[in-house]
Amino acid sequence: MRDDNCIFCKIAGGDIPSTTVYEDEQFRVFLDLSPAAKGHALVVPKEHFANLFEIDDEVLRDLIVVAKKVAIAIRDALGCEGMNIVQNNGPLAGQTVFHFHLHIIPRYADDGQNINWVPGTSDPETQVKIAEAIKGALKA
Ligand code: 5GP
Ligand code: ZN
Repeated sequence: MRDDNCIFCKIAGGDIPSTTVYEDEQFRVFLDLSPAAKGHALVVPKEHFANLFEIDDEVLRDLIVVAKKVAIAIRDALGCEGMNIVQNNGPLAGQTVFHFHLHIIPRYADDGQNINWVPGTSDPETQVKIAEAIKGALKA
């Protein structure tokens, strides 16, 4: 299904041009317009899913295989020294385009990026409670 108001539906469908590096029946992979680093690419399903919570399992399985293939090609073509795979869900988590996409961000020694988080603290009792809550939700 397509959402006519969604920019990534239009890009994935070829209605809006993009710098495409890979395309098949299900996916388009294109370079990010505001790249975090040279070769920053987005893996986008042609079908519209808002985020990870909504995406079809089979599409997701196929998507990660495409992401791996393109990630290897980016590494080989551009000689990056590392790579971050980032996927944002919801505005609070930094999602700005509400059509599922996986960021492939090649990393270079001098790229000036800091794709990271501030490490927090934990205690065993709280961790067990959190784990129990999640396990309960998984069973539901
Ligand atoms: P998000 O913040 O939702 O995880 O990532 C959205 C990404 O899409 C951003 O990195 C942004 O630069 C990129 N982006 C937004 N609009 C366009 C566009 O029209 N073309 C391309 N190639 N990238 C876009
Ligand atoms: Zn869409």
